[in-house]
Amino acid sequence: RGWWNHVRPAPKDPIVSVNEAFLADPFPLKIHLGVGTYRDDDGKPLIPHCVRDAEAKIERCKLENLNSSAVTSKFVLESVKLAYGNDSYVVREGLFAGIPALSGTGACRLFAEFQRHFYPDSQIYLPDPTWSNHHNIWGQAEIPIKTFHYYNRDTKGLDFAALINDVKNAPDCSFFLLHPCAHNPTGVDPTEEQWREISYQFKVKNHFPFFDMAYQGFSTGDLDKDAVALRIFLEDGHLIGCAQTFAKNMGLFGHKVGCLSVLCQDIKQASAVKSQLQKIAHSMYSSPHIHGILLVTMILSDPDMKALWRKEINVIAALTFMVMAKRIQTMRSSLRQSLETLDSSFNWEHITTQGGMFCFSGLTPDQVKLLEKIFHIYMTPDGRISMAAVTTSNVKYLANAIHQVTR
Ligand code: PMP
Repeated sequence: RGWWNHVRPAPKDPIVSVNEAFLADPFPLKIHLGVGTYRDDDGKPLIPHCVRDAEAKIERCKLENLNSSAVTSKFVLESVKLAYGNDSYVVREGLFAGIPALSGTGACRLFAEFQRHFYPDSQIYLPDPTWSNHHNIWGQAEIPIKTFHYYNRDTKGLDFAALINDVKNAPDCSFFLLHPCAHNPTGVDPTEEQWREISYQFKVKNHFPFFDMAYQGFSTGDLDKDAVALRIFLEDGHLIGCAQTFAKNMGLFGHKVGCLSVLCQDIKQASAVKSQLQKIAHSMYSSPHIHGILLVTMILSDPDMKALWRKEINVIAALTFMVMAKRIQTMRSSLRQSLETLDSSFNWEHITTQGGMFCFSGLTPDQVKLLEKIFHIYMTPDGRISMAAVTTSNVKYLANAIHQVTR
């Protein structure tokens, strides 16, 4: 019997397709602007010193004697402290249900599954646009997807009025996904004041905020400042869901370390919610790999290592090597300057005003195609540039190519 005759190939993911086209291109000066991972100025992935130190320490401890459930609890506690704040009442009083997840993707997927179980008739509101996998994740969990206004393609900034309108017009008690900082793919975030207004409107409508926090530390270089949206919602008394990943801010891409937390009203509720999250996770993959969890826990619970980590993501304090936020900011200025020197008739101000790893360039799908065809420069069709892939040695080539296809 041909068991799988009816299985047709799934449509290609746009990000995967760009990767494949890039790898197949033999041109030596090719550039891949689609990567969502941090690269140094030589285009190499970066492993922070704190991670190297933690690796060395872990090698010395006896993995076989580990109490993995104690490590897991510690990991979750340290992760929620990072998100909600060391001294927040939810942490102090244990008003959260948290479990380790397979990175940010896994945390979102677990939440989507949880949502379907306990709110089977609910839908999810995703920002327009958003990381394309959000559509796959909630789609796979068979939760109807709606979008809300976010990015204004004309101003290349936040469409705040339309966003608030959508929040007001959504049915009461809707689930919304929010990017707390360094919105992917636009790099556009609400200001603190706008977050306060969003939080207020959520309160009025009783909406549930689910934060997908993939880039904590990447927007301002400061872990706490980047969590300001969560902290505002917390202050306003919302119950929050939050997906965290250490793939980016600790450079742990292959380790798939993440955390899903859901705030609860009391300890009894937290325990019930946690047990349900664990049940879902157990049926999918039993338990996550312990190595990455150990690494992250070691860094977060050791004051010296944590301080080193904070420094490594911090804009100014990064002395040992030009890291993350600082380098990204330098490349933003450099790209804008190069375009302006070429007398480009377009306004490229948004390159430096947007934050985070991505720059929503405003390039059209046709211009993106031309860049690929003529200049061997690859990016997703939405014109999203990963600033992490822009380096001192390719920035001029890139600026010239962008100028040529937009003139
Ligand atoms: N959420 C957002 C907004 C992302 O950009 C990404 C990664 N591109 C993820 C989640 C997934 O993160 P991870 O690699 O940790 O699964």
